[in-house]
Amino acid sequence: MSKVVIIGAGLAGSLLAIYLAKRGIAVDVYEARGDMRLEEVAAGRSINLALSDRGIAALREVGMDEYMLAEAIPMYGRMIHSEAGETRLLPYSGRKGEYINSVSRGGLNIALMNEAEKYPGVRFHFNCRCTGFDSLTGDVRFTNGVTATGDTLIATDGAGSAVRDAFLHGGVERFDFSQVWLEHGYKELHIPPSSGSDLERDALHIWPRHQFMMIALPNFDGSYTCTLFLAHRGEKSFENLGDEPSVMHFFTENFPDAIPLMPTLIEDFFHNPTGNLGTIKCFPWNIGGKALLLGDSAHAVVPFYGQGMNCAFEDVRVLDQLIDKHSTDWETVYEEYSELRKLNTDAIADMAEENFYEMRDAVADPVFVRKRQLETSLEQTFPDYFSKYSMVTFREDLPYSVAKEKGNAQDRLLMEICSQEENIERLDLNSIMERIRQISV
Ligand SMILES: Cc1cc2nc3c(=O)[nH]c(=O)nc-3n(C[C@H](O)[C@H](O)[C@H](O)COP(=O)(O)OP(=O)(O)OC[C@H]3O[C@@H](n4cnc5c(N)ncnc54)[C@H](O)[C@@H]3O)c2cc1C
Repeated sequence: MSKVVIIGAGLAGSLLAIYLAKRGIAVDVYEARGDMRLEEVAAGRSINLALSDRGIAALREVGMDEYMLAEAIPMYGRMIHSEAGETRLLPYSGRKGEYINSVSRGGLNIALMNEAEKYPGVRFHFNCRCTGFDSLTGDVRFTNGVTATGDTLIATDGAGSAVRDAFLHGGVERFDFSQVWLEHGYKELHIPPSSGSDLERDALHIWPRHQFMMIALPNFDGSYTCTLFLAHRGEKSFENLGDEPSVMHFFTENFPDAIPLMPTLIEDFFHNPTGNLGTIKCFPWNIGGKALLLGDSAHAVVPFYGQGMNCAFEDVRVLDQLIDKHSTDWETVYEEYSELRKLNTDAIADMAEENFYEMRDAVADPVFVRKRQLETSLEQTFPDYFSKYSMVTFREDLPYSVAKEKGNAQDRLLMEICSQEENIERLDLNSIMERIRQISV
C-alpha cells in the first residue's frame, strides 16, 4: 500500500485525502493549526466562498456535492448598489440552473475532514507546522520536532507554502517563482441576520466605486459577510482610515445604504485584519515523484472570479484521473498533471485579475451593463452560447485556457456592438450568434 504525506488540512488537502483514501492509499495529513472541530482557530476571516461547477464536480466524485449544496445559498446574479442607493440585478446567466453558491469555508473544511476520517487509512495530525522538506531523502520536518516520510508528499499548505519555499531555496534548480501583490487589500465586515433581511438573499451584492468596491455574500443564518477591497495606500486607502470619524466619513460618502445594515461596522473595521491579495506563479510543481505542489501553494490567485478553491478542487480531480491512468507511478502522474494544469491555472490567474477591474468599474458602466443584457438574451435563445463568465464558472468540461481565449474574443465583439447600439432590443441576435460561432480558438 502506498503512503502519501499531505501538508495542510485546508480545503484542497482535506478533499485530496478523501480521493486518495478511496483508492486504498494511506494518508497522513499534517496541519499547522489546531483542529477547527474542537477549537476556534484563526482560519482567516474569509467566512464564506462562492462554490461553482468545477468545485461541485470534484465534490460529486466523492459523494459530497449534495451534502454541501444543502447548506449553500444560491446566488443568481450580481446585485449592483449604485451610489444613489438604487439596485439592479445582473444575472450570471440567462439559463436556469446556472448560478453560484455561497458556502461556509469552515463548514466545508470540517465536512471534508469528517468524511476523510471515515477511512481507516487517513490520519490527521494537528499543530504540526511544516518547516522544511529534504528533496533528497523526502523527509518533512515540523516545528514540534516531528518528522514524516511517505512514498510521496503533496503540499496543499496554501499561498504561503513552506514546501514551496523549500523548492525555491535549493530543492529545485532553476525554480521559477513570482509573487505579484495587488495594490488593494481586503477587510471583512458583517451584516447580522436582523438587517440582512433588507437585502435580496439570493445574490452576490456589489457596491462598485471604481477605485474600490465592497461585496457581500449571504450566509446560511441570514447574515452576510462583506468584503471591502481598497488600496493599501493613497488618498482613498486603508492607511487613511485610521480612526472612527474617517471610517464613518468614508462609508457615509461611498456606501450610505450599507451603514444601517452594519451595526458593528466600527468594531469590525478595527478588529478584523487587513488582508493582502496577490498572484503566485511557480514552476516546476514537482520534484520527480517525491513531491508535488497543489492548490494555492502552486498557484494562488486573487479572489475576483471566485475560482481559487474551485480551481484547487479541480486540481484534485485531475490528479485523481491521472492516478487512475498511471497508478502510483508518482513521477509520471506529476509530470503529466503539471503539463495539463499549468496552462489552465495561468489562465484563471490572469482572468481573476481582469475581473477585479470588471467588478469595480465595468459593472457600473452602461456599455458593460448592455453587454450583460445582450449576453443574457443570447443565453436564453441559443443553447450553445456561453459568456466568458459562464464558461469559467458553469463549464466544468471546458479548460480555463479555452474559456479565456474564446471569452476574450467574444467580449471584444460584444463590447463593440454594445458601444454602437444603446437599445439592445434592436439588435439581430441571429446574426450576432453567427459571428460568435465563427470565432475559433
Ligand atoms: C478574501 C478571499 C475570498 C475568496 N473567495 C473565494 C471564492 O469565493 N471562491 C473560491 O473558489 N475561492 C475563493 N478564495 C480562494 C480560496 O480561499 C483558496 O483558493 C483556497 O482556500 C485554496 O485552498 P488550499 O487548500 O490550496 O489552501 P488553504 O485553504 O489556504 O489551506 C492551506 C492549509 O494549510 C495549512 N498550512 C499552512 N502552512 C502550513 C505549514 N507550514 N504546515 C502545515 N500546514 C500549513 C493552513 O493552516 C491551511 O489549513 C478566496 C480567497 C480570499 C483570500
